[in-house]
Amino acid sequence: MADGTESESRKLLGRLREAMASDDAGQARLDKITHLIADSMGTEVCSIYLFRDSETLELCATEGLQPESVHQTRLRMGEGLVGRVAKYSKVINTPDAPSAKGFRYMPETGEERFSSFLGIPVQRLGEKLGVLVVQSRDAREFSADEVYALEVVAMVVAEMTELGAFVGEGAALSPLHQQSVLLRGGTGQEGAAEGHVWLHEPRVVVTNPIADDPHRELERLNEAVEELRVGVDKMLEMSQNGDKEQLQVLEAYRMFANSKGWMRRMEEDIARGLSAEAAVEKEQSQARARMEQVNDAYLRERLADLDDLSNRLLRILTGQGSNSGAELPADPILVARNIGPGELLEYGRSLKGIVLEEGSVGSHAAIVARALAIPLVVHTARITTEALNGDHIMVDGDQGIVHLRPDDTVVTAFRDKIAMQADAQERYASIRDRKTVTLDGKELSLVMNAGLMADLPSLDSSGAEGVGLFRTELQFLVRNQMPKRSELVSLYGRVLDAAHGKRVVFRTLDIGSDKVLPYMKPTDEPNPALGWRAIRVGLDKPGVMRMQLQALIRAANGRPLTIMFPFVAQAEEYHMARAEVDKTIERERKLGHVLPETLEVGAMLETPSLAFAPQKFFDDVGFLSVGGNDLKQFFFAADRENERVRRRYDTLNVSFLSLIERIVERCAISGTPLSFCGEDAGRPIEALCLAAMGIRTLSMRPASIGPVKSLLLRSNLDELRKIISDARHRGEQSVRPAVMAWLKQQS
Ligand code: PEP
Ligand code: MG
Repeated sequence: MADGTESESRKLLGRLREAMASDDAGQARLDKITHLIADSMGTEVCSIYLFRDSETLELCATEGLQPESVHQTRLRMGEGLVGRVAKYSKVINTPDAPSAKGFRYMPETGEERFSSFLGIPVQRLGEKLGVLVVQSRDAREFSADEVYALEVVAMVVAEMTELGAFVGEGAALSPLHQQSVLLRGGTGQEGAAEGHVWLHEPRVVVTNPIADDPHRELERLNEAVEELRVGVDKMLEMSQNGDKEQLQVLEAYRMFANSKGWMRRMEEDIARGLSAEAAVEKEQSQARARMEQVNDAYLRERLADLDDLSNRLLRILTGQGSNSGAELPADPILVARNIGPGELLEYGRSLKGIVLEEGSVGSHAAIVARALAIPLVVHTARITTEALNGDHIMVDGDQGIVHLRPDDTVVTAFRDKIAMQADAQERYASIRDRKTVTLDGKELSLVMNAGLMADLPSLDSSGAEGVGLFRTELQFLVRNQMPKRSELVSLYGRVLDAAHGKRVVFRTLDIGSDKVLPYMKPTDEPNPALGWRAIRVGLDKPGVMRMQLQALIRAANGRPLTIMFPFVAQAEEYHMARAEVDKTIERERKLGHVLPETLEVGAMLETPSLAFAPQKFFDDVGFLSVGGNDLKQFFFAADRENERVRRRYDTLNVSFLSLIERIVERCAISGTPLSFCGEDAGRPIEALCLAAMGIRTLSMRPASIGPVKSLLLRSNLDELRKIISDARHRGEQSVRPAVMAWLKQQS
């Protein structure tokens, strides 16, 4: 095929298809394919390397290299030219392989005799499957046409691999998606769960990568693209008055759907013998590979749009809708690249666990998962390409680990862990109604964090004494449009009803930074966490804040009401917000609404500056709650959303504990009620140390109340305080080692 004509290309694909249709075993098919490609390309060598596991490439078939090296030669990802092609999903085309960067000589293959090298990644929808290589003795660079032809062939090899065409006895490969794999991600929500995979977006299966009638395929492609365009136009029409960001995405869809370059490449793929589906997939795979390489956030987003659009096109072509017809298993573990909070709420508590390929700890989906107490692992690379609907899966949200198709030893160990957790839950249930009094007689109040109606039943089951933080923004985040005041009145009213007189601290809208309302104009800020967020938005644009205050007052309808303002950085912000409350009360009184029986207004201490506010602030404020998640991020200058740094600094670092100590002292002078409501309040060791520093109210996820209470009941805070002081005097950076040693001694 040195002249690279389309008909040559089609002829080769036709022969490949015959090889695929034969009754041969997997290995024989592979051998035949390498032979056919070498013959057709006029090269001395053609080799296929496939992944044995996610890191190891194995030479699985060759024409021209030493036959003994088949299934013997293995390379790690990134090793040698072949490993580099796989790692970077990049074509390597060189006339002088031994001098090329990364070349590694493998004597068993006898490849030193071959000078030119062309390696093409074999991948399908972002899943790296292997590398296809041709080599020849003469030092020449392969032409663009030859590269293109081999890319088309690589696509077919990818589809065949996916369809299991090379699986078989002997040294041939074991089928894809059947091995047991361990994937590491990040903790989104703690807890362990076992179940079966439910793909939010099922994989599209292409059974016919090769087609003989390019005209028919072109027609099919054109018809599908037309349907796609009409669909996108319709979506655009319907969203004209809607969210701007969504409009931008749709505009990008329209641009791609009308892109001549995209169409032309797919038409060329078809002219060379690919079916319409395989042509779409080829372009999509290449876009995904590019996505891995680019750092520019805008470009990545656009490539993600293209990916999404290609999926739609594939679904039109294959007739496989996003509903695969599969039934939701009894114990579904949702697997998705990402998922919106609304969609997640629709699944609700039916899910046993969630694994996201992307997602982030502070994403809306993570917030909802947390509210529903569903174990969640985020940032789990490859999960959507590895997992198939119905696969057995175990999710360890504590460690951020996912076992897909686990083997028996893992299953046993994991079930032991779940059983231990269940035992612990039983033990916690037995102390649920006990007061939290430590061995040295200190009484604490354990309350819970909430944000959705779905949280409220946990108030009874966990034994929480009230809701220490009700994140009102969740109701705003899970909707497509701003909720109406009447809806908020009804919701807050139901929350108070469900609390049966227990205190509920309603935090006013905390938006901005990582929490962006889908229907609000996005602000382009260089540093959103330090930007226009929470009370800053509330004071600058008081309309929404007023509406929320009114809704709270009306919902209380004569009952006690507690309101808390987030992210107060200086006293004046609190005073201005407090003045809004007073004005709203006055207005509501005039309108004839019943006013709350009692009204408490407080602030969150989330910036170090507030800890050093004038003492008068501590006198004035109704109560304070330390938002440890934000306070820590600003105290250590470590982004709470950034996996690289978010665990870098210990809450038990003496600097942070000194800050807490200072806040406790200042509140004590004024008699200001103080609580702590960041995630650390729900971690037993951290909670214990916060209690030792003098915090008496801890607000946490409901599931944490049992473990935290259990440890507090067994502890002497005075003794622990001394352990902490001694460690500080010894000059230790974190008191954790000393605390752990002390705890060990106790048990
Ligand atoms: C905090 O910052 O600790 C907090 C409780 O608020 P959020 O996590 O909602 O920012
Ligand atoms: Mg906060």
